[in-house]
Amino acid sequence: MNKPSETHLLAERIQKNSAAEVYTDIGSRGRYATDASIYQTIPIAVCVPSCANDITVALQVARELQVPILPRGGGTSQCGQTTGPALVIDNSKHFRNLISVDAQEKVAEVEPGMVLDHLNAALKKHQLWFPVDVSTSGQATIGGMAGNNSCGSRSIAYGNMVHNVAGIDAWLASGELASFGLMENAQGEALRLGQLVQQLAQKYQTEIDTNWPKVLRRVAGYNLDIFHNQNEKPYRPDGKVNLAHLLVGSEGSLAYFKSLKLQLSPLPQHKTLGVINFVSFHAAMDSAQHIAKLGPTAIELVDRTMLDLGRQNPEFRTVIETALIDKNAATPEAILLVEFSGDNHHALIQKLKDLVTLMADLGLPNSVVEMTQAQMQKNLWEVRKAGLNIMMSLKGDGKPVSFIEDCAVPLEHLAEYTSALTDVFSKYGTRGTWYAHASVGTLHVRPILDMRRDGAQKMRAIAEEAAALVRKYKGAFSGEHGDGISRGEWIKWQFGNHLNQAFGEIKHAFDPQNQLNPGKIVNPPKMDDYSLMRFHPSYKVNPLQTSLDWSSWNVQNDPVTEAVSPAGTGMDPAQGFSKAVEMCNNNGHCRKFDAGTMCPSYRVTRDEQHLTRGRANTLRLALSNQLEGQALVSKTVKDAMDLCVGCKGCKRECPTGVDMAKMKIEFLSHYQKEHGLSLRDRLFAYLPQYAHYVTKIPGLPSLLNLRNRIPLLAFLGEWLLGISAKRSLPKWQKKTIWNHSRFRFGLDDWLAESFVGQQLVVLFADTFNGQFESENLEAAAEVLQAAGYWVYIPRKPEGHYCCGKTLLSNGLVDEAKVQAKELLDHLSIYAERGTPIIGLEPACILSLRDEYLMMGLGEQAEMVAKNSFTFEEFLMKEAAIQPNYSQLAHPNNLKFKTTQQEILVHGHCHQKAFEVVQPILEVLKLIPGANPKLIESSCCGMAGSFGYEAEHEKISMQMAEISLLPSIRNAPQAIIVADGSSCRHQIHDGLGRQALHIAKVLKMHLKE
Ligand SMILES: Cc1cc2nc3c(=O)[nH]c(=O)nc-3n(C[C@H](O)[C@H](O)[C@H](O)COP(=O)(O)OP(=O)(O)OC[C@H]3O[C@@H](n4cnc5c(N)ncnc54)[C@H](O)[C@@H]3O)c2cc1C
Ligand code: SF4
Ligand code: SF4
Repeated sequence: MNKPSETHLLAERIQKNSAAEVYTDIGSRGRYATDASIYQTIPIAVCVPSCANDITVALQVARELQVPILPRGGGTSQCGQTTGPALVIDNSKHFRNLISVDAQEKVAEVEPGMVLDHLNAALKKHQLWFPVDVSTSGQATIGGMAGNNSCGSRSIAYGNMVHNVAGIDAWLASGELASFGLMENAQGEALRLGQLVQQLAQKYQTEIDTNWPKVLRRVAGYNLDIFHNQNEKPYRPDGKVNLAHLLVGSEGSLAYFKSLKLQLSPLPQHKTLGVINFVSFHAAMDSAQHIAKLGPTAIELVDRTMLDLGRQNPEFRTVIETALIDKNAATPEAILLVEFSGDNHHALIQKLKDLVTLMADLGLPNSVVEMTQAQMQKNLWEVRKAGLNIMMSLKGDGKPVSFIEDCAVPLEHLAEYTSALTDVFSKYGTRGTWYAHASVGTLHVRPILDMRRDGAQKMRAIAEEAAALVRKYKGAFSGEHGDGISRGEWIKWQFGNHLNQAFGEIKHAFDPQNQLNPGKIVNPPKMDDYSLMRFHPSYKVNPLQTSLDWSSWNVQNDPVTEAVSPAGTGMDPAQGFSKAVEMCNNNGHCRKFDAGTMCPSYRVTRDEQHLTRGRANTLRLALSNQLEGQALVSKTVKDAMDLCVGCKGCKRECPTGVDMAKMKIEFLSHYQKEHGLSLRDRLFAYLPQYAHYVTKIPGLPSLLNLRNRIPLLAFLGEWLLGISAKRSLPKWQKKTIWNHSRFRFGLDDWLAESFVGQQLVVLFADTFNGQFESENLEAAAEVLQAAGYWVYIPRKPEGHYCCGKTLLSNGLVDEAKVQAKELLDHLSIYAERGTPIIGLEPACILSLRDEYLMMGLGEQAEMVAKNSFTFEEFLMKEAAIQPNYSQLAHPNNLKFKTTQQEILVHGHCHQKAFEVVQPILEVLKLIPGANPKLIESSCCGMAGSFGYEAEHEKISMQMAEISLLPSIRNAPQAIIVADGSSCRHQIHDGLGRQALHIAKVLKMHLKE
């Protein structure tokens, strides 16, 4: 069924009989070829059903055409469970509803595509939660969690997925719908299959008793022991058999879940957290067994490497430091997060005291940071949850590889096991970073291996030695992340021939044609089969002359020391660009909907294509020639990049640092060279160049402004140029900051006036404020002047200095470099004297600290970057300095009128990416009575020219409607502060409200 004609027949028949989206193009299939594992297989086709009926149709057509089926949730599996030559069916876009909640019975029923965090948010009002708190809680779907028998940090208290699933309705391979629940109530096919498995369980009772791992964390194989529990925790407290438990952990290979009934737990009212700092890793491992006796709900490990890597990431640094006894001392070798939870706060505080005493008794006094504050605990848990991703941020071809990362051993052997495995790693010239569930003996560890070279051989050798250790300590080889490809072949090793045969018989009974996710659990391939891998020795990258400088990604690392080689030495034919793209390990963290920014386009479309991961995968496939002859400049890549608004959300929030905004510039630079630019793109890109001439021609600004007043002109603009008629355009001003402002006196005048006691600042006038809202720059200059600064606004006799951002956004990197060079030549005169360079437009001033450093502009760019600030960032920085004589320029000199008005702040995405949102709030607080509040919003959706483009206007507005516009609607009297020109415009177009730059708000409140 791999012939194109048959694939098209499959798609045609599903589409004809259902409302499902079906994709057969190589780009879409390529994006579904990987999960968070090392594997990759291009699927036959991809189906995105809108409802249950669509799935029924897809299953039926696939059955008739003998096409294998692969159900998929978030695709965050680590062992290759969701890769295969099949029709991949993605439940996560539409098939994700909460069907019912019975708060009395503490039961909820959900569709399989529902994400755990979304379920728990809906349950909160009932004071309930679903307690299988996997680290990927923001992405993992309930169907995928059940498919993998997932386990959370608190499994010591709540068990694994299998202990919390009460029933599953599922389509069988025959297409029949069957209800799996208590065996005593079973009927029809569910009963027949249950009885068959029961007979197998009886037949193999002796092997089950002797070969079955007895630890809590065992997720391998099928749950044949439901008839005679081997786990230290019973499947159900009442010991009854529930046939749904047979399906949990079956990795899509027995049945397709239609809905799942979940057992809920009361939300604990209080939690306390003790963070133990260890100077020796062995001591941490050895302590776990003693700490477990205090009855914690979690004991989680984070080791030194991860602490150090985390401290390099601006998002995690401050949080990690709250967990350290002394942040200025050497990083501890390990920390253990020990959580106690329950309804009696005093009892939990006492538990914390008991922990402190225990550690002192174990010879480690003063080693516990006691955290009782909920927010601090939550922040630290978020970092722990990001643990794996932090680890994956290592640059170079050697990556921490997942294949023995969740072996589980009894607690009393944990210290010995970890030391022995560490020795195995060093024998193979590598080392591992350890973290996770010390409470249940499952420690995640990934040795660093280079799969493009000798990684596969080493992987097998290490797996064999690790397996021997697991056997020695009577543990389980697969303790959390499932079997998939990396551990499938170890099932036989773990359970023996007879039980492996029994698993085969179960599979045959459920799926006689071997159509459901074949090769998973039964008849698995070899874990080191190169043909199934994402990176392998024959993986090749096409040579590429890049426009931006990606050399800092073009490195290799030392697997033992993790030291990276100098920039540019990584032997990447694409000069580091492909290595930057390959940093995406498919963990799916960008599928998020929480307070962050990443990824606004996915938040609206929920399409894999419009996700940072989807884009990175598309680029990777294009760069490595895997898109069936389509190159980087193909439509496939263009479509994937189309809705990337360059918000830089991923730059900050992607745990491995995938910076798609820059990748889009790189891509566009090649695309436009091949395909050219449209007239509209040229109008946007070269606006800074021609703006000056528009103002010079008498009457032209007024004429152009007619477009906003005469609908016919707007329609013509859309028809001829593709600029949305629904949008108002920025209003041309005759009096611009350059042709009217008095703040034109620069360094020479300042020196000549002998005002050297008065601090000189450069106020960089960007095109948008300078040309269309010059009053913002005037306001900023007046505020700075009122504080005592000498303000200089750069200008040229013809035109003005521009940062080149509009050129960069259209991929015109060479032209942007010319602009940038000119600007740097001018600004560096000031920067080299330490004169601050202040900008109002976040996208422009922050590009001096971002894109400029990747344009090969040398030391001048570095120097200017160090001296560039957003307006409010500068004021906040200055406010922190104690004034030491009265005439010194200082924000303290500003005298403001009191305000009682509500103030809401929308941070520009680039302000968020550079962590300079807080200064807006701090500086607004200089106004007496002001209590500014931050709107929790992703991107406003306008994103430069994006929202003006006719084809993007709708999605741009949808982005704004996610949270920004509703928050403003709810505050009709509030002053809205938005520093980005496009954000202000979006708010105006969406609500008819006028948002203000902070400079204007400060000016409005200045006392005369
Ligand atoms: C950074 C990171 C951290 C992780 N942390 C944890 C952790 O703390 N604990 C843990 O247990 N795991 C963890 N994982 C692994 C993974 O996130 C979990 O197993 C998660 O539950 C998978 O959910 P998903 O929606 O992505 O499922 P997918 O990967 O899409 O699917 C998982 C399996 O379920 C099957 N499946 C999906 N839907 C259905 C359906 N409707 N019917 C039948 N079968 C179906 C699939 O075929 C597949 O075999 C982590 C992964 C990463 C990348
Ligand atoms: S882009 Fe980043 S967040 Fe998204 S899957 Fe890749 S590595 Fe994870
Ligand atoms: S830059 Fe923004 S829109 Fe583009 S991929 Fe990153 S988060 Fe998504």
